Amino acid sequence: MNSRPFVTSKTPAGFADLPPLGMDGKSIFEDFRRYFSRTLGRNELNEATYHVYTSLSVAWRDRIVERWKKTQASYDDRDTKRTFYLSLEFLMGRALGNAMLNLDEKGATADIMKKTGLALEEIIDQEHDAGLGNGGLGRLAACFLDSCATLQLPVMGYGIRYEYGMFRQKIENGYQLEEPDHWLRIGNPWEIERQELSVRVKFGGYTDFYTDESGTTKARWVHSHDVLAIPYDMPIPGYRNGTVNTLRLWKSTATDEFDLNEFNAGSYSEAVAAKNAAEHITMVLYPNDASENGKELRLRQQYFLASASLQDVLRAWVSKHGNDFTDFADKHCFQLNDTHPTCAVPELMRLLMDEHGLGWDEAWAITSKTVAYTNHTLLPEALEKWPVSMFGRLLPRLLDIICEINARFLTAVAQRWPGDGERQSRMSIIEEGPEKQVRMAYLAVVASTSVNGVAELHSRLLQQHLFHDFYELWPEKFNNKTNGVTPRRWMTSSNPELSALITATIGPDWVTDTQQLSKLAPFAEDAKFRAKWRKIKLANKARLAALVKRDCGVDFDVNAIFDIQVKRIHEYKRQLLNILHVIHLYDRIKRGDKQGITPRCVLIGGKAAPGYMMAKRIIKLVNAVAAVVNADPEVSPLLKLVFLPDYRVSAMEIICPGADLSEQISTAGKEASGTGNMKFMMNGAMTIGTLDGANIEIMEEVGEENFFLFGLNAEEVEDMKRRYDPAAIIAQDEDLSRVMHLLACNHFNLFEPGIFDPIVDSIYNPHDQWLTAADFRSYIDTQKAAASAYLDQEHWTRMSILNTAASGKFSSDRTIADYNKDIWHLPTIKQHA
Ligand SMILES: *Cc1c(COP(=O)(O)O)cnc(C)c1O
Repeated sequence: MNSRPFVTSKTPAGFADLPPLGMDGKSIFEDFRRYFSRTLGRNELNEATYHVYTSLSVAWRDRIVERWKKTQASYDDRDTKRTFYLSLEFLMGRALGNAMLNLDEKGATADIMKKTGLALEEIIDQEHDAGLGNGGLGRLAACFLDSCATLQLPVMGYGIRYEYGMFRQKIENGYQLEEPDHWLRIGNPWEIERQELSVRVKFGGYTDFYTDESGTTKARWVHSHDVLAIPYDMPIPGYRNGTVNTLRLWKSTATDEFDLNEFNAGSYSEAVAAKNAAEHITMVLYPNDASENGKELRLRQQYFLASASLQDVLRAWVSKHGNDFTDFADKHCFQLNDTHPTCAVPELMRLLMDEHGLGWDEAWAITSKTVAYTNHTLLPEALEKWPVSMFGRLLPRLLDIICEINARFLTAVAQRWPGDGERQSRMSIIEEGPEKQVRMAYLAVVASTSVNGVAELHSRLLQQHLFHDFYELWPEKFNNKTNGVTPRRWMTSSNPELSALITATIGPDWVTDTQQLSKLAPFAEDAKFRAKWRKIKLANKARLAALVKRDCGVDFDVNAIFDIQVKRIHEYKRQLLNILHVIHLYDRIKRGDKQGITPRCVLIGGKAAPGYMMAKRIIKLVNAVAAVVNADPEVSPLLKLVFLPDYRVSAMEIICPGADLSEQISTAGKEASGTGNMKFMMNGAMTIGTLDGANIEIMEEVGEENFFLFGLNAEEVEDMKRRYDPAAIIAQDEDLSRVMHLLACNHFNLFEPGIFDPIVDSIYNPHDQWLTAADFRSYIDTQKAAASAYLDQEHWTRMSILNTAASGKFSSDRTIADYNKDIWHLPTIKQHA
């Protein structure tokens, strides 16, 4: 787009009183037509469906920008406290459908767009997912922004505008192939470039200590190589309330003089190379979910986000208050989404001291009051550490500050526990050893006013294990904020038929007050209501079956139980356990033991990190088992298995309404919360799950009788690890023995013998952290109970309704209200909707 609206609270005279845009279908269609034929210069509608999408998006964006300006002006006028949500990932998915839903004109638009001969769903389908995240953590950030805008809280998201988002997953010969996702190539109508707000970010160089006029020792970061950060704003509309918040994403580029010095020296190509190096920083999202990988470019990304965002916030402050920071801490909160943006801690200290003249104590008082940290995992491989040598080379001034923070912190530890040197080295932000490392999680805990986990169990385990020493020192910092998901995207928009039935039954207010869903519970006993509920589930299953047919070429029978596991592929999530169950069913059918087998369609989907060999092998196994199962005429009427490629937000919007059974089967104590579990529950799926993450709270809400629970709990897992003997478990279990034999004898890989040996070995390994064999029997028996429960459709439907009815707690509106009550303390700012 060439015409970029100028979003600011200070509108020049003559522009402030533009007449409001019409919200009726006709006005929107007029604007759509003008953008399509004049701005974009297109003629044939059916040859340019993407441009139809773009034109309709811009017509809607205009209406959002109107409200955006008013919202931002009202925040400025009130000089209100604000929260800044810092995250390396925002897994936004698509924007157009969400914009129309939240501005309440989707119906009218659908009608009027029929004039184009295109169905609205077809137009919506043109949009490329904004895949700027890996999985749960990034999607949580997206749900949070929706809830903040819906609750009318002055919250702004800060992230990175990756040129390439999460890779596209293709399957070839059963193996995962990764393709780059150049999502911006055909333009993005939902972003507005704000070149005028660019900031410089420093790398390299060294710290120069000097004495100022008053004789004070000061520091400055010199001889750095700077890059430019350019912001791109995306609007975040609240649900039908006139509020539009901002997600600001930073793109890196070379500074002019960076280019020019080389250029003037006669090295044109070096000048261009410098530009490339600068642009590399925001080129690609790291595709590792829940594992750190220590690459220098990743640290550059993290610092780039932290520095650009803080400079942006401080510039706005200084333009109003000069260098008077007295009230700054009362007006700002920086919520860190995991340790990824933790460079914000030393960077805020640096900016306050080196750029704005504050002393250490003043700067620390501000930093430690404004920063709050959310932990997302207990997995040791996910805890970020940076070699001190690398950190010092890249961010020398920040390393100075971290060392000073650590020295002062360890002094406090020594005062609290005199003579306990072991504790001091245990708690040190700098890990000693042959290669010294900066422990980012400890830095975040030391500097934060609040430290939270994302489900009750997870928050408790943080206090008991990972952060136990810190919990003893500062128990008041620690709290829980159980995750949630936005009901607008995950029900209203993705499951319109069910949402309409709910609204017809209990009224429309549940969309912003999900506790009202509990009013559905009595209708579980109403046979007519159940029939309607079942009919809608069947239609949603048909929609999902069409997707499976298109992308996997396999026919799913809507009368079979749809058994779904979609999430990142990781050993702790135990897709392997799911496959063992499928192989067990296959084995039963082949042995003629078909008694009580309910026809079942199993869908597994998710991406593996490109360097995670075991996860990639598990994908190959799903496809290998699927090929044998689906091709066997004796088996396939009773059992189907598919691996659905390229799992992403827009796919989940179709998957989740069509699920009967939601697989949440991680090893207890390993899944921090899970949010997929919540999306399925809201849409009336039953969960088969372990006592892990938010599953525990899901079961508490819905009752054990409406939940298929199996497996060891977190304590039993730790206990079992001390005496784990998988070979003995396998030997004693005939079913598991047969499954293991089929795997070991290459039954599913006759022409690629041996490829699953590492998987077989991992299950037999007494050090298998995920205890796959330990939970097998309990899982198989519980699956059997689920299958027979499904045969009683009336009762199953009753349980399905009760799941939706009990899902109210898992709205991200509740989560955000909790963050606000306990940590942020923001006022709600009403708009004229
Ligand atoms: C919700 C969601 C996730 C998180 O799923 P979990 O089951 O909680 O791991 C990951 N990816 C996408 C696309 C999602 O929508």
